[in-house]
Amino acid sequence: MKANKITATICLVISLAIATITGINFKKLSTVPEITPGKGVTEVRKLSDYFEGIKGSDGDTPIYVMKGKEDGGKVLILGGTHPNEPASHLSTVLFIQNVKVKKGTIYILPYTNRSGFTHNDSQEGSPHDMHFITKDGEEVVYRYGSRATNPINQWPDPDVYIHATSGQRLSGSEMRNINRAYPGKKDGTFTEKVAFAITEMIKKENINLTFDLHEASPEYPVINATVSHEKGMNVAAPGVMALQLDGIDMSLEPSPKNLHGLTHRELGDFTDTIPILMETANASQGRLRGATNEYQVLTGKDKFYTRANELKMTYVPYDDKGHPIEERVGRHLQGIIEYTKSYNKNYPEKMVEFDNCPTYKELFADIDEKDLGGKNLGRFMIK
Ligand SMILES: [Zn+2]
Repeated sequence: MKANKITATICLVISLAIATITGINFKKLSTVPEITPGKGVTEVRKLSDYFEGIKGSDGDTPIYVMKGKEDGGKVLILGGTHPNEPASHLSTVLFIQNVKVKKGTIYILPYTNRSGFTHNDSQEGSPHDMHFITKDGEEVVYRYGSRATNPINQWPDPDVYIHATSGQRLSGSEMRNINRAYPGKKDGTFTEKVAFAITEMIKKENINLTFDLHEASPEYPVINATVSHEKGMNVAAPGVMALQLDGIDMSLEPSPKNLHGLTHRELGDFTDTIPILMETANASQGRLRGATNEYQVLTGKDKFYTRANELKMTYVPYDDKGHPIEERVGRHLQGIIEYTKSYNKNYPEKMVEFDNCPTYKELFADIDEKDLGGKNLGRFMIK
């Protein structure tokens, strides 16, 4: 009896200690790192400026506005739709901190699904943080999050998720995936409301061209790819050719008409914007990966993917050089450069022009291998 009480007390104390440590850890994630704006940012707004229904919630998120001196068209860049795809979020960080817009206006959401940055996917072993050293030698930290909205904001998941406008039936866990929630719903779930706010913003600002940045597992067929709504093919097709000339292998996929809730389908159908989605290769979200840590996230090096490639199980080339974060961010930023140029040729009355966007060459192609895996990316950041 006595021994039982002692054992029970020890177990209770250990469980309380674990609950306290993990609880503090979880609570710390509820605020996301602030992004210091570069000189090109003219205003910082909130997404709730476009839809009151998310005001004060964890779904409200900053919008960085970069307005040029000359009037022109409007571009929106969505980073962090899926917070476990770090090249997406980090591309918007570099854009906000480096670019100067000359003509037109660019709106950037680095934390599109902000709630997804406040937790990690359970049992995946993902890191919380990514560390970089800026060109001034200071450390900056950005967040690695989850594919979906935090369950503290939306719970429980149903067995079947029925997409609001199409009636499409998906697995219940997709209910917290913002890229299955567009065009959103005014009185819907937390995730549907955030999607609704983004659709409202696009309508109210008359956004002409929208980029949604993603990453994919190396074994996923839609990778190193651009997906465009059919009305954007005149912009995307010449853009892909320009990217090929830049040395970037890129495929072009039409947005499937019967796959609902995604930006490249619904934003094209429900608003006047041209939506373009890009994918790069991210080992840290794949199912065949080895140890998951910050090193793997930033270098893309993973011996299990090298082996999977030998067995012809990957849709991208994979060797012991990995796919460093500079290559992945470089692809996204070069994509934004080329597709915007292509847009300008098609719609000269709504041109958007900008300078100083880090290129694929500057980030990756011209860089010594020892400086890849986060070191060179940090040189484009400010604290
Ligand atoms: Zn994604």
